[in-house]
Amino acid sequence: MTDTPVRNTRVPDMATPLWEYAPAPESRDIVTIDSSYGLFIGGEWVEPSDGTMFKTVNPATEEVLAEVAQAGRADVDRAVGAARKAFGRWAKLPGAERGKYLYRIARIIQERARELAVLESIDNGKPIKETRDIDLPLVAAHFFYYAGWADKLAWAGLGPDPRPLGVAGQIIPWNFPLLMLAWKVAPALACGNTVVLKPAETTPLTALLFAEICRQADLPPGVVNIVTGAGETGRHLVEHDGVDKIAFTGSTEVGKQIQRTVAGTGKRVTLELGGKAANVIFDDAPIDQAVEGIVNGIFFNQGHVCCAGSRLLVQESVHDAVIDKLKRRLGTLRLGDPLDKNTDIGAINSSVQLDRITELVSAGEQEGAQRWQPECDLPERGYWFPPTVFTGVAQSHRIAREEIFGPVVSVLPFRTPAEAIEKANNTPYGLSAGVWTEKGSRILWMAQRLRAGVVWANTFNKFDPASPFGGYKESGFGREGGRHGLGAYLAGGVH
Ligand code: NDP
Repeated sequence: MTDTPVRNTRVPDMATPLWEYAPAPESRDIVTIDSSYGLFIGGEWVEPSDGTMFKTVNPATEEVLAEVAQAGRADVDRAVGAARKAFGRWAKLPGAERGKYLYRIARIIQERARELAVLESIDNGKPIKETRDIDLPLVAAHFFYYAGWADKLAWAGLGPDPRPLGVAGQIIPWNFPLLMLAWKVAPALACGNTVVLKPAETTPLTALLFAEICRQADLPPGVVNIVTGAGETGRHLVEHDGVDKIAFTGSTEVGKQIQRTVAGTGKRVTLELGGKAANVIFDDAPIDQAVEGIVNGIFFNQGHVCCAGSRLLVQESVHDAVIDKLKRRLGTLRLGDPLDKNTDIGAINSSVQLDRITELVSAGEQEGAQRWQPECDLPERGYWFPPTVFTGVAQSHRIAREEIFGPVVSVLPFRTPAEAIEKANNTPYGLSAGVWTEKGSRILWMAQRLRAGVVWANTFNKFDPASPFGGYKESGFGREGGRHGLGAYLAGGVH
């Protein structure tokens, strides 16, 4: 348990707080964190070849949690070798047998869900109620879902005898560490590929616990390999000749570098990159529900969400009413200890990310937008940023164009549906969008015109393993999830 208190905030313009919450801390005892971790290669824990280690910290307290091995080029080579060696037998297993392993992993994840949720909150900073109720159920659901596909690949619409690609190099970010692992590992294994996965430098611990789960499930050695490290480790993986497929989730900048590196090599690639989603509120929308959708859209997971509704487009006739209700609602959010079950907003994942948010927020003010934040005490240690609303935002402002990846929403008014479309699509990204209206015809009209991979209607940030997810334009290409997600790991499939 961290000693960071949960701070209650006051509703603006009201003299008294709503009510005080007694602390409800989730126990940390269920988790054992070793002082140091090696690399998981060929089913064994091994030391990094040059002995280099890095530290992972709890962003809510700045406490060092563990030392983790930094994989160099030779280690990545070893991991790819182990994955190659395991590939032949794994790919030849009947799909039903591979499915059994995936079901077993899914069930162990469910059994150990609390342990994984607590560890994720400690290493990432996200609230326990999100890891417990959203991340972990979705992680298990992805393994169950793709376990079901493993013996039905011939019926996936990808040809009568679809074949795996080989060794998949998978690089994931820090915002949903275990969920992004599941999005990548489950379909790859179901299709008969073996994997080398690199978790983000700031959040390696749940991937390392997942390695233990692979052993517990008796997964054949080398089918899953985990190499921890920084961006350099990811680069070695991308450059390795023995890798047949790269699956990457992260920034557009690194995605572009990866595409340049693999150009002409014959490696298959899927990229899931940044976003700057428009969440569009029409004047006939159910306003109270829309306000909940706005909060979920941008303040869920501290706004560290690639598909976050970071641009709020509000029809002018309801602009003031929506902003008023939004501010009152934000006044009730509780920011603090991620392990407290009452916490709505946890810690920012790293000091680097906090600096980036702070820099963009000051750019917003300098460019003339109006910043608003609820009264909110920030804990003294750790990395924190209060929920922030910018009004008076112009489309040219950096806060309307760049991915902030933090709890900051930029409000842009509009008058007509055509103007909403113009503004929503005026971005280099195209990952997601939301539409709030009571008219079904308007939802369909909007969905046809929005250049976004996912369009949510009267909801936001809804995920399901059966539903494909991915972007247009600088948000990347390829789809993860659903039947489409199989295409990314099969020869002859859609990619
Ligand atoms: P990165 O794109 O740098 O990180 C994503 C993953 O790629 C991490 O595992 C990272 O390792 C790895 N990586 C970094 N450089 C390379 C490289 N040259 N070759 C291969 N792999 C590499 O994102 P950041 O963590 O630096 O975040 C920066 C910004 O990116 C954020 O502010 C946010 O705007 C955006 N972002 C978007 C995400 C999304 O889902 N769309 C997710 C994360 C970030 P390591 O962590 O060790 O550096």
